[in-house]
Amino acid sequence: MIDFNKAPVVGNELAYMQQAMQNHKLCGDGPFTKKCSGLMQEAFGSRHLLLTTSCTHALEMAAHLSDVGEGDEVIMPSYTFVSTADAFVQRGAKIVFVDIRPDTMNIDETKIEEAVTERTKAIVPVHYAGVACAMDEIMAIAAKYNLKVVEDAAQGVNAWYKGRALGTIGDFGCYSFHETKNYTMGEGGAILFQDDEYRDRAEILREKGTDRSKFFRGQVDKYTWVSYGSSYLPSDLNAAYLYAQLEQMSAINEKRLAIWNYYHESFEELEKEGLVTRPTVPDYAVHNAHMYYLKVKDLKTRTALIQWLKEHGVQSVFHYIPLHSSPAGRKFGRFSGEDVYTTRESERLLRLPMYYSLTMEEAAQVAAAVKGFWEQKGARDGR
Ligand SMILES: *Cc1c(COP(=O)(O)O)cnc(C)c1O
Repeated sequence: MIDFNKAPVVGNELAYMQQAMQNHKLCGDGPFTKKCSGLMQEAFGSRHLLLTTSCTHALEMAAHLSDVGEGDEVIMPSYTFVSTADAFVQRGAKIVFVDIRPDTMNIDETKIEEAVTERTKAIVPVHYAGVACAMDEIMAIAAKYNLKVVEDAAQGVNAWYKGRALGTIGDFGCYSFHETKNYTMGEGGAILFQDDEYRDRAEILREKGTDRSKFFRGQVDKYTWVSYGSSYLPSDLNAAYLYAQLEQMSAINEKRLAIWNYYHESFEELEKEGLVTRPTVPDYAVHNAHMYYLKVKDLKTRTALIQWLKEHGVQSVFHYIPLHSSPAGRKFGRFSGEDVYTTRESERLLRLPMYYSLTMEEAAQVAAAVKGFWEQKGARDGR
């Protein structure tokens, strides 16, 4: 069976974890955490970047730092992971879901403005599959109505919008290093921001409400409880794992892109015949091959294709069930305007195996199995 995902191991993970053990520094903000943030700040041009225990926690921090509170409204797509919404629900906010664009599966920037009300506090674009949202348009709406922009760039690490790294464009950016993402530390994430004004508050929030970070920099002689906080620091052991991956960022990216491009070419014919829709990457985006998906005619065809692939040794999976139709989504949110694409497109979408250790031979098997489905189906349907 070709797995849908396997956590990447690229080289120095074990050596660096051993080094962390030898350093006798396993808690947060140790040497490897600093190396990771330094490397990413440089690579992505981010003024501030703090490692966190997950992207969910980075989003929680962003919600807090954006001063989102009880009764505020936050705009986001319904086609996303639950954490995008949960982080704001935790603050007592109401979620306002906006339809997606069928080409990228990202929030439709032309439908955001009509969702803005007096209570709107933030817009949360999700860069689905590592393909950038239309950030210029989104930032313009935010500026017009004085809203914060929190980029859910969980899937967008090392992906770009008009030359800028995803996660560095809005007020806050949130990355994930979960094992299903391009670069991993098992569980982990990061929050990025460019405005120095947020630095002290972010550090305090992440360090149990204390000014410990200032203490370590020698800016105060003892540390104390200064505000509300939680514990969002990952262990340096996890950061050691991540650092090995970040050092190999180009190699991981190239390998993933090679698989993505191979799939994309393989399915060109199927698309021409009108049997599948392939992903679209707009000119303004440089993606990171986070995901390869196909969209088929409908839910029934997708179910049949997943089953067929399973019988032919390939694990494929569907993705988000739109949040607005879930029990929590109905309770905490509402859909603005009409759901033209969210439900319809999500029911058609299926993701294929995509990870660093997937061999090109395996990718070829996947492509052949997908094509085989249409061949038998065509034969059966008398085409
Ligand atoms: C993976 C993911 C998250 C959550 O990331 P964690 O690090 O597991 O908390 C949030 N949003 C999106 C869009 C994701 O893909």
